[in-house]
Amino acid sequence: MYLYNSATHKKAEFTTHTPGRVEMYTCGPTVYHFAHIGNLRSYIMEDVLEKFLRYEGYDVHRVMNITDVGHLASDADTGEDKMLKGAKREHKSVMEIARFYTDAFFADCAKLNIKTPDVVEPATNCIDEYIKIVSGLIDKGYAYLAGGNVYFDTSKLPRYYIFNDHDEEDLAVGVREGVEEDTNKRNKNDFVLWFTKSKFEDQALKWDSPWGVGYPGWHIECSGISLKYNGEYLDLHCGGIDNAFPHHTNEIAQSESYLGHPWCPQWFHVHHLNTTSGKMSKSSGEFLTVSLLEEKGYDPLAYRFFCLQSHYRKSLVFSWENLTNAQGAYQKLLRRIAALSPEGEVDEETVKAYKEKFLQQVGNDLNTSMGVTLLYDALKAQANDATKRAILESFDRVLSLSLLEKADALRAEQAKAQTATADGGITITGEGDAEIDALVLRRAQAKKAKDFAEADRIRDELKQQGIEITDTKEGASWRRV
Ligand SMILES: [Zn+2]
Repeated sequence: MYLYNSATHKKAEFTTHTPGRVEMYTCGPTVYHFAHIGNLRSYIMEDVLEKFLRYEGYDVHRVMNITDVGHLASDADTGEDKMLKGAKREHKSVMEIARFYTDAFFADCAKLNIKTPDVVEPATNCIDEYIKIVSGLIDKGYAYLAGGNVYFDTSKLPRYYIFNDHDEEDLAVGVREGVEEDTNKRNKNDFVLWFTKSKFEDQALKWDSPWGVGYPGWHIECSGISLKYNGEYLDLHCGGIDNAFPHHTNEIAQSESYLGHPWCPQWFHVHHLNTTSGKMSKSSGEFLTVSLLEEKGYDPLAYRFFCLQSHYRKSLVFSWENLTNAQGAYQKLLRRIAALSPEGEVDEETVKAYKEKFLQQVGNDLNTSMGVTLLYDALKAQANDATKRAILESFDRVLSLSLLEKADALRAEQAKAQTATADGGITITGEGDAEIDALVLRRAQAKKAKDFAEADRIRDELKQQGIEITDTKEGASWRRV
Protein backbone atom coordinates (compact mmCIF):
# COMPACT_ATOMS: atom_id res chain seq x y z
CA MET A 1 0.00 0.00 0.00
CA TYR A 2 0.93 3.66 -0.26
CA LEU A 3 0.99 5.49 3.02
CA TYR A 4 1.77 9.04 4.05
CA ASN A 5 4.77 9.11 6.36
CA SER A 6 4.87 11.96 8.90
CA ALA A 7 8.63 11.47 9.30
CA THR A 8 9.43 12.17 5.65
CA HIS A 9 6.30 14.26 4.96
CA LYS A 10 5.72 12.18 1.82
CA LYS A 11 3.44 9.43 0.61
CA ALA A 12 5.45 6.35 -0.30
CA GLU A 13 5.09 2.62 -0.80
CA PHE A 14 4.94 0.85 2.54
CA THR A 15 7.84 -1.52 3.13
CA THR A 16 8.99 -3.59 6.09
CA HIS A 17 12.30 -4.65 7.59
CA THR A 18 11.40 -8.33 7.25
CA PRO A 19 9.44 -9.05 4.05
CA GLY A 20 5.85 -10.09 4.76
CA ARG A 21 5.98 -9.14 8.42
CA VAL A 22 4.89 -5.86 10.04
CA GLU A 23 6.11 -4.86 13.48
CA MET A 24 3.53 -2.27 14.50
CA TYR A 25 3.32 -0.14 17.62
CA THR A 26 0.41 1.98 18.84
CA CYS A 27 0.48 4.46 21.71
CA GLY A 28 -2.21 3.29 24.07
CA PRO A 29 -4.44 5.24 26.43
CA THR A 30 -3.55 6.84 29.74
CA VAL A 31 -6.11 5.11 31.90
CA TYR A 32 -7.17 7.89 34.27
CA HIS A 33 -10.59 8.52 32.74
CA PHE A 34 -12.93 7.30 29.98
CA ALA A 35 -11.69 7.76 26.43
CA HIS A 36 -13.62 10.37 24.48
CA ILE A 37 -14.73 9.62 20.96
CA GLY A 38 -11.96 11.87 19.61
CA ASN A 39 -9.33 9.57 21.18
CA LEU A 40 -11.24 6.62 19.78
CA ARG A 41 -11.15 8.02 16.25
CA SER A 42 -7.38 7.32 16.27
CA TYR A 43 -7.90 3.76 17.49
CA ILE A 44 -10.55 3.13 14.83
CA MET A 45 -8.24 4.32 12.03
CA GLU A 46 -5.28 2.34 13.41
CA ASP A 47 -7.52 -0.72 13.57
CA VAL A 48 -8.48 -0.26 9.91
CA LEU A 49 -4.81 0.14 9.02
CA GLU A 50 -3.85 -3.08 10.82
CA LYS A 51 -6.72 -4.98 9.20
CA PHE A 52 -5.87 -3.58 5.77
CA LEU A 53 -2.27 -4.76 6.10
CA ARG A 54 -3.53 -8.21 7.08
CA TYR A 55 -5.94 -8.13 4.11
CA GLU A 56 -2.95 -7.43 1.88
CA GLY A 57 -1.39 -10.61 3.27
CA TYR A 58 1.04 -9.24 5.86
CA ASP A 59 1.67 -11.02 9.11
CA VAL A 60 1.10 -8.13 11.53
CA HIS A 61 2.47 -8.12 15.07
CA ARG A 62 0.92 -5.21 16.92
CA VAL A 63 1.93 -3.94 20.34
CA MET A 64 0.24 -1.31 22.51
CA ASN A 65 1.06 0.16 25.91
CA ILE A 66 -1.34 1.13 28.66
CA THR A 67 -0.02 4.20 30.46
CA ASP A 68 -0.65 3.73 34.17
CA VAL A 69 2.21 5.85 35.49
CA GLY A 70 4.34 8.87 34.56
CA HIS A 71 2.05 10.81 32.22
CA LEU A 72 1.84 14.31 33.60
CA ALA A 73 -0.91 16.81 32.85
CA SER A 74 1.35 18.40 30.27
CA ASP A 75 3.06 16.17 27.73
CA ALA A 76 6.16 18.28 28.42
CA ASP A 77 6.60 16.72 31.88
CA THR A 78 4.97 19.39 33.99
CA GLY A 79 1.78 19.45 35.98
CA GLU A 80 0.26 16.70 38.04
CA ASP A 81 0.44 12.97 37.25
CA LYS A 82 -2.78 12.16 35.39
CA MET A 83 -3.26 8.83 37.17
CA LEU A 84 -2.89 10.45 40.57
CA LYS A 85 -5.38 13.11 39.59
CA GLY A 86 -7.88 10.42 38.55
CA ALA A 87 -7.37 8.50 41.80
CA LYS A 88 -7.94 11.63 43.90
CA ARG A 89 -11.03 12.55 41.92
CA GLU A 90 -12.61 9.17 42.59
CA HIS A 91 -11.15 8.46 46.04
CA LYS A 92 -9.58 5.24 44.82
CA SER A 93 -6.04 3.90 44.50
CA VAL A 94 -4.05 4.46 41.32
CA MET A 95 -4.15 0.73 40.53
CA GLU A 96 -7.93 0.60 41.01
CA ILE A 97 -8.31 3.52 38.63
CA ALA A 98 -5.97 1.88 36.12
CA ARG A 99 -7.86 -1.41 36.18
CA PHE A 100 -11.26 0.23 35.91
CA TYR A 101 -10.42 2.51 32.98
CA THR A 102 -8.40 -0.15 31.16
CA ASP A 103 -11.50 -2.38 31.20
CA ALA A 104 -13.67 0.57 30.16
CA PHE A 105 -11.33 1.33 27.25
CA PHE A 106 -11.46 -2.21 25.89
CA ALA A 107 -15.24 -2.36 26.38
CA ASP A 108 -15.53 0.78 24.20
CA CYS A 109 -13.14 -0.75 21.65
CA ALA A 110 -15.25 -3.92 21.49
CA LYS A 111 -18.39 -1.89 20.78
CA LEU A 112 -16.54 -0.13 17.95
CA ASN A 113 -15.22 -3.44 16.52
CA ILE A 114 -11.63 -2.43 17.33
CA LYS A 115 -9.46 -5.53 17.61
CA THR A 116 -7.29 -5.85 20.71
CA PRO A 117 -3.58 -5.70 19.70
CA ASP A 118 -1.49 -8.88 19.95
CA VAL A 119 0.39 -7.47 22.94
CA VAL A 120 -1.12 -5.03 25.44
CA GLU A 121 1.35 -4.06 28.13
CA PRO A 122 0.77 -1.82 31.16
CA ALA A 123 3.72 0.56 31.58
CA THR A 124 4.21 -0.54 35.19
CA ASN A 125 5.13 -4.07 33.98
CA CYS A 126 8.34 -3.01 32.23
CA ILE A 127 10.31 -0.99 34.80
CA ASP A 128 13.48 -3.08 34.28
CA GLU A 129 13.37 -2.30 30.58
CA TYR A 130 13.28 1.47 31.17
CA ILE A 131 16.12 1.28 33.69
CA LYS A 132 18.21 -0.63 31.13
CA ILE A 133 17.60 2.00 28.43
CA VAL A 134 18.14 5.00 30.73
CA SER A 135 21.43 3.47 31.98
CA GLY A 136 22.50 2.93 28.37
CA LEU A 137 21.68 6.55 27.49
CA ILE A 138 23.69 7.85 30.46
CA ASP A 139 26.65 5.62 29.47
CA LYS A 140 26.55 6.96 25.92
CA GLY A 141 26.39 10.56 27.10
CA TYR A 142 22.84 11.26 25.93
CA ALA A 143 21.37 11.65 29.40
CA TYR A 144 22.29 13.55 32.56
CA LEU A 145 21.28 13.74 36.17
CA ALA A 146 19.98 17.04 37.52
CA GLY A 147 18.02 17.84 40.65
CA GLY A 148 17.60 14.11 41.28
CA ASN A 149 15.90 13.39 37.93
CA VAL A 150 17.42 11.89 34.78
CA TYR A 151 16.98 14.00 31.63
CA PHE A 152 17.57 13.35 27.94
CA ASP A 153 19.94 15.93 26.44
CA THR A 154 18.35 16.99 23.14
CA SER A 155 21.37 19.18 22.22
CA LYS A 156 23.34 15.97 21.57
CA LEU A 157 21.25 15.24 18.48
CA PRO A 158 21.93 16.72 15.04
CA ARG A 159 18.21 16.48 14.25
CA TYR A 160 15.61 16.57 16.99
CA TYR A 161 12.50 18.06 15.32
CA ILE A 162 11.50 15.14 13.10
CA PHE A 163 7.88 16.22 12.60
CA ASN A 164 8.48 19.96 12.39
CA ASP A 165 6.45 20.74 9.31
CA HIS A 166 3.18 19.93 11.02
CA ASP A 167 0.87 22.81 11.67
CA GLU A 168 2.12 25.12 14.38
CA GLU A 169 -1.15 24.46 16.14
CA ASP A 170 -0.56 20.70 16.21
CA LEU A 171 2.94 21.09 17.60
CA ALA A 172 1.76 23.52 20.22
CA VAL A 173 -0.88 21.15 21.55
CA GLY A 174 1.58 18.86 23.28
CA VAL A 175 3.10 21.66 25.27
CA ARG A 176 0.04 23.83 25.74
CA GLU A 177 0.00 23.41 29.49
CA GLY A 178 3.78 23.66 29.87
CA VAL A 179 3.78 26.95 31.67
CA GLU A 180 6.06 25.97 34.50
CA GLU A 181 9.79 26.10 33.84
CA ASP A 182 11.87 23.14 34.97
CA THR A 183 15.17 24.78 35.91
CA ASN A 184 17.00 21.43 35.97
CA LYS A 185 16.82 21.17 32.19
CA ARG A 186 19.91 22.16 30.21
CA ASN A 187 17.88 22.78 27.07
CA LYS A 188 14.26 23.80 26.71
CA ASN A 189 13.22 20.54 25.03
CA ASP A 190 15.12 18.14 27.28
CA PHE A 191 12.72 15.66 28.82
CA VAL A 192 12.55 13.46 31.87
CA LEU A 193 13.55 9.79 31.54
CA TRP A 194 13.29 9.00 35.23
CA PHE A 195 11.78 11.03 38.07
CA THR A 196 13.10 10.74 41.59
CA LYS A 197 12.49 14.26 42.79
CA SER A 198 9.38 16.02 41.76
CA LYS A 199 6.72 18.01 43.47
CA PHE A 200 4.65 14.86 43.93
CA GLU A 201 6.02 13.46 47.11
CA ASP A 202 2.82 11.42 47.34
CA GLN A 203 3.36 9.65 44.00
CA ALA A 204 1.71 6.29 44.61
CA LEU A 205 3.88 4.04 42.45
CA LYS A 206 7.65 4.10 42.92
CA TRP A 207 10.48 1.73 42.11
CA ASP A 208 14.09 1.43 43.08
CA SER A 209 16.61 2.50 40.44
CA PRO A 210 20.34 3.34 40.20
CA TRP A 211 19.28 7.01 40.59
CA GLY A 212 17.06 6.54 43.61
CA VAL A 213 13.45 5.55 44.23
CA GLY A 214 11.21 7.01 41.56
CA TYR A 215 9.21 6.35 38.44
CA PRO A 216 9.66 6.52 34.65
CA GLY A 217 8.79 9.45 32.39
CA TRP A 218 5.96 8.91 29.96
CA HIS A 219 8.04 8.91 26.75
CA ILE A 220 10.44 6.15 27.81
CA GLU A 221 7.50 3.78 28.35
CA CYS A 222 6.68 3.49 24.67
CA SER A 223 10.29 3.04 23.60
CA GLY A 224 10.83 0.41 26.31
CA ILE A 225 7.70 -1.58 25.53
CA SER A 226 8.27 -1.44 21.78
CA LEU A 227 11.92 -2.50 22.04
CA LYS A 228 10.90 -5.36 24.31
CA TYR A 229 8.12 -6.75 22.11
CA ASN A 230 8.72 -5.44 18.57
CA GLY A 231 12.50 -5.78 18.65
CA GLU A 232 15.11 -3.28 17.47
CA TYR A 233 13.49 -2.61 14.10
CA LEU A 234 9.97 -1.24 14.22
CA ASP A 235 8.15 -0.88 10.89
CA LEU A 236 5.17 1.28 11.74
CA HIS A 237 4.41 3.54 14.69
CA CYS A 238 0.92 4.98 15.15
CA GLY A 239 -0.74 7.59 17.29
CA GLY A 240 -2.90 10.68 17.33
CA ILE A 241 -1.41 13.83 15.81
CA ASP A 242 -1.13 15.28 19.35
CA ASN A 243 1.54 12.68 19.99
CA ALA A 244 3.83 13.78 17.15
CA PHE A 245 5.43 16.39 19.37
CA PRO A 246 6.86 16.06 21.91
CA HIS A 247 5.98 12.41 22.59
CA HIS A 248 7.01 10.72 19.33
CA THR A 249 9.86 13.14 18.78
CA ASN A 250 11.21 12.07 22.17
CA GLU A 251 10.59 8.38 21.48
CA ILE A 252 12.73 8.63 18.34
CA ALA A 253 15.45 10.62 20.12
CA GLN A 254 15.88 8.14 22.95
CA SER A 255 15.37 4.92 20.93
CA GLU A 256 17.84 5.78 18.18
CA SER A 257 20.43 7.16 20.62
CA TYR A 258 20.15 3.98 22.66
CA LEU A 259 20.22 1.58 19.70
CA GLY A 260 22.81 3.45 17.63
CA HIS A 261 20.84 2.87 14.42
CA PRO A 262 17.58 4.03 12.80
CA TRP A 263 14.57 2.67 14.65
CA CYS A 264 11.22 3.24 12.94
CA PRO A 265 11.00 4.59 9.38
CA GLN A 266 7.21 4.89 9.09
CA TRP A 267 4.96 7.16 11.24
CA PHE A 268 1.16 7.21 10.98
CA HIS A 269 -0.74 10.05 12.68
CA VAL A 270 -4.50 10.45 12.90
CA HIS A 271 -5.79 14.01 12.98
CA HIS A 272 -8.18 15.60 15.45
CA LEU A 273 -11.86 15.15 15.92
CA ASN A 274 -13.23 18.62 16.53
CA THR A 275 -16.57 19.79 17.80
CA THR A 276 -18.23 22.77 16.20
CA SER A 277 -16.64 24.90 18.96
CA GLY A 278 -13.08 23.54 18.64
CA LYS A 279 -10.86 20.62 19.58
CA MET A 280 -12.53 17.89 21.61
CA SER A 281 -11.28 17.43 25.16
CA LYS A 282 -12.28 15.75 28.37
CA SER A 283 -12.35 19.00 30.29
CA SER A 284 -14.38 21.35 28.12
CA GLY A 285 -17.85 21.02 26.62
CA GLU A 286 -19.86 17.82 26.56
CA PHE A 287 -17.75 14.75 27.54
CA LEU A 288 -18.43 12.60 24.49
CA THR A 289 -18.06 8.91 25.29
CA VAL A 290 -19.29 5.74 23.62
CA SER A 291 -21.74 5.30 26.52
CA LEU A 292 -23.19 8.74 25.87
CA LEU A 293 -23.72 7.85 22.19
CA GLU A 294 -25.56 4.72 23.28
CA GLU A 295 -27.66 6.60 25.82
CA LYS A 296 -28.75 8.91 23.04
CA GLY A 297 -29.80 5.95 20.92
CA TYR A 298 -26.84 5.72 18.55
CA ASP A 299 -25.21 2.50 17.47
CA PRO A 300 -21.44 2.79 18.22
CA LEU A 301 -20.85 1.31 14.76
CA ALA A 302 -22.64 4.30 13.25
CA TYR A 303 -19.82 6.36 14.78
CA ARG A 304 -17.26 4.02 13.20
CA PHE A 305 -19.08 4.45 9.88
CA PHE A 306 -18.95 8.23 10.39
CA CYS A 307 -15.16 8.09 10.95
CA LEU A 308 -14.59 5.87 7.90
CA GLN A 309 -16.31 8.39 5.67
CA SER A 310 -13.47 10.88 6.06
CA HIS A 311 -9.70 10.71 5.65
CA TYR A 312 -7.53 10.14 8.72
CA ARG A 313 -5.24 13.04 7.78
CA LYS A 314 -8.06 15.58 7.87
CA SER A 315 -9.65 17.03 10.96
CA LEU A 316 -13.18 15.79 11.32
CA VAL A 317 -16.02 17.84 12.78
CA PHE A 318 -18.37 16.01 15.07
CA SER A 319 -21.92 17.19 15.66
CA TRP A 320 -25.02 15.29 16.69
CA GLU A 321 -26.51 16.19 13.33
CA ASN A 322 -23.55 14.66 11.47
CA LEU A 323 -23.82 11.51 13.55
CA THR A 324 -27.57 11.29 12.93
CA ASN A 325 -26.92 11.48 9.20
CA ALA A 326 -24.23 8.80 9.43
CA GLN A 327 -26.53 6.53 11.44
CA GLY A 328 -29.32 7.03 8.88
CA ALA A 329 -26.97 6.12 6.02
CA TYR A 330 -25.59 3.12 7.93
CA GLN A 331 -29.06 1.73 8.67
CA LYS A 332 -30.15 2.28 5.09
CA LEU A 333 -27.06 0.39 3.92
CA LEU A 334 -27.91 -2.49 6.28
CA ARG A 335 -31.47 -2.63 4.94
CA ARG A 336 -30.17 -2.83 1.38
CA ILE A 337 -27.85 -5.68 2.35
CA ALA A 338 -30.70 -7.40 4.21
CA ALA A 339 -32.66 -7.42 0.95
CA LEU A 340 -29.96 -9.59 -0.68
CA SER A 341 -30.76 -13.27 -0.79
CA PRO A 342 -27.98 -15.53 0.52
CA GLU A 343 -29.09 -18.24 -1.93
CA GLY A 344 -27.11 -18.93 -5.08
CA GLU A 345 -23.59 -19.55 -6.19
CA VAL A 346 -20.81 -17.03 -5.57
CA ASP A 347 -18.97 -15.86 -8.67
CA GLU A 348 -15.40 -15.94 -7.35
CA GLU A 349 -13.97 -14.05 -10.34
CA THR A 350 -16.18 -11.04 -9.63
CA VAL A 351 -15.29 -11.14 -5.92
CA LYS A 352 -11.61 -11.18 -6.85
CA ALA A 353 -11.98 -8.22 -9.20
CA TYR A 354 -13.69 -6.19 -6.48
CA LYS A 355 -11.08 -7.18 -3.95
CA GLU A 356 -8.37 -5.90 -6.32
CA LYS A 357 -10.21 -2.60 -6.63
CA PHE A 358 -10.50 -2.33 -2.85
CA LEU A 359 -6.79 -3.06 -2.34
CA GLN A 360 -5.84 -0.45 -4.88
CA GLN A 361 -8.19 2.31 -3.79
CA VAL A 362 -8.14 1.94 -0.02
CA GLY A 363 -4.42 1.18 -0.32
CA ASN A 364 -3.91 4.74 -1.49
CA ASP A 365 -3.05 6.23 1.91
CA LEU A 366 -5.83 4.36 3.71
CA ASN A 367 -8.65 5.97 1.78
CA THR A 368 -11.48 4.62 3.91
CA SER A 369 -14.16 6.82 2.35
CA MET A 370 -13.36 5.11 -0.95
CA GLY A 371 -13.82 1.81 0.91
CA VAL A 372 -17.31 2.96 1.92
CA THR A 373 -18.06 4.02 -1.67
CA LEU A 374 -17.03 0.56 -2.86
CA LEU A 375 -19.68 -0.97 -0.57
CA TYR A 376 -22.33 0.86 -2.60
CA ASP A 377 -20.61 -0.14 -5.86
CA ALA A 378 -20.75 -3.78 -4.73
CA LEU A 379 -24.50 -3.47 -4.19
CA LYS A 380 -24.83 -2.31 -7.79
CA ALA A 381 -22.51 -5.00 -9.20
CA GLN A 382 -23.56 -7.03 -12.25
CA ALA A 383 -23.75 -10.14 -10.13
CA ASN A 384 -26.19 -12.25 -8.16
CA ASP A 385 -27.02 -11.51 -4.53
CA ALA A 386 -24.75 -14.22 -3.14
CA THR A 387 -21.78 -12.70 -4.97
CA LYS A 388 -22.63 -9.23 -3.71
CA ARG A 389 -22.76 -10.58 -0.19
CA ALA A 390 -19.37 -12.24 -0.64
CA ILE A 391 -17.84 -8.94 -1.82
CA LEU A 392 -19.31 -7.06 1.14
CA GLU A 393 -18.11 -9.72 3.54
CA SER A 394 -14.62 -9.42 2.11
CA PHE A 395 -14.49 -5.61 2.44
CA ASP A 396 -15.90 -5.82 5.94
CA ARG A 397 -12.83 -7.77 7.08
CA VAL A 398 -11.13 -4.36 6.90
CA LEU A 399 -13.97 -1.92 7.56
CA SER A 400 -15.49 -3.98 10.41
CA LEU A 401 -19.01 -2.61 10.29
CA SER A 402 -20.66 -5.99 11.10
CA LEU A 403 -22.51 -5.64 7.79
CA LEU A 404 -23.67 -9.20 7.15
CA GLU A 405 -24.23 -10.00 10.79
CA LYS A 406 -26.49 -6.97 11.30
CA ALA A 407 -28.19 -7.36 7.92
CA ASP A 408 -28.96 -11.02 8.68
CA ALA A 409 -30.44 -10.06 12.05
CA LEU A 410 -32.57 -7.48 10.30
CA ARG A 411 -33.63 -10.07 7.73
CA ALA A 412 -34.67 -12.48 10.47
CA GLU A 413 -36.65 -9.72 12.15
CA GLN A 414 -38.35 -8.83 8.89
CA ALA A 415 -39.23 -12.48 8.26
CA LYS A 416 -40.81 -12.64 11.69
CA ALA A 417 -42.71 -9.46 10.99
CA GLN A 418 -44.29 -11.03 7.93
CA THR A 419 -46.61 -12.88 10.31
CA ALA A 420 -48.27 -9.50 10.64
CA THR A 421 -51.34 -8.15 12.31
CA ALA A 422 -54.79 -9.27 11.23
CA ASP A 423 -58.10 -7.82 12.30
CA GLY A 424 -61.59 -8.02 10.86
CA GLY A 425 -60.39 -9.63 7.64
CA ILE A 426 -57.58 -7.06 7.12
CA THR A 427 -53.96 -8.28 7.17
CA ILE A 428 -51.05 -5.90 7.60
CA THR A 429 -47.50 -6.98 6.79
CA GLY A 430 -44.45 -4.90 7.61
CA GLU A 431 -40.97 -4.75 9.04
CA GLY A 432 -41.69 -5.71 12.63
CA ASP A 433 -42.96 -2.62 14.43
CA ALA A 434 -46.24 -3.07 16.31
CA GLU A 435 -46.91 0.66 16.55
CA ILE A 436 -46.64 1.15 12.81
CA ASP A 437 -48.63 -2.04 12.17
CA ALA A 438 -51.42 -0.54 14.30
CA LEU A 439 -51.42 2.76 12.39
CA VAL A 440 -51.43 1.03 9.02
CA LEU A 441 -54.31 -1.14 10.23
CA ARG A 442 -56.25 1.95 11.35
CA ARG A 443 -55.73 3.48 7.92
CA ALA A 444 -57.01 0.33 6.19
CA GLN A 445 -60.05 0.30 8.48
CA ALA A 446 -60.73 3.99 7.72
CA LYS A 447 -60.51 3.24 4.01
CA LYS A 448 -62.91 0.33 4.36
CA ALA A 449 -65.32 2.67 6.17
CA LYS A 450 -64.84 5.21 3.34
CA ASP A 451 -63.29 7.76 5.72
CA PHE A 452 -60.72 8.82 3.11
CA ALA A 453 -59.70 12.01 4.94
CA GLU A 454 -58.59 9.96 7.94
CA ALA A 455 -56.90 7.37 5.70
CA ASP A 456 -54.92 10.10 3.92
CA ARG A 457 -53.99 11.76 7.20
CA ILE A 458 -52.47 8.53 8.51
CA ARG A 459 -50.67 7.89 5.23
CA ASP A 460 -49.10 11.38 5.40
CA GLU A 461 -48.12 10.93 9.02
CA LEU A 462 -46.35 7.67 8.21
CA LYS A 463 -44.75 9.14 5.12
CA GLN A 464 -43.09 11.72 7.34
CA GLN A 465 -41.55 8.86 9.32
CA GLY A 466 -40.19 7.37 6.11
CA ILE A 467 -42.84 4.64 5.87
CA GLU A 468 -44.26 3.64 2.51
CA ILE A 469 -47.61 1.82 2.35
CA THR A 470 -48.70 -0.47 -0.46
CA ASP A 471 -52.31 -1.64 -0.59
CA THR A 472 -52.72 -5.37 -1.04
CA LYS A 473 -55.63 -7.72 -1.64
CA GLU A 474 -55.60 -8.69 2.05
CA GLY A 475 -55.08 -5.17 3.44
CA ALA A 476 -51.73 -3.37 3.24
CA SER A 477 -48.00 -3.82 3.60
CA TRP A 478 -45.44 -1.24 4.67
CA ARG A 479 -41.72 -0.74 4.51
CA ARG A 480 -39.13 1.82 5.48
CA VAL A 481 -37.63 3.73 2.57
ZN1 LIG B 1 3.68 6.43 22.96
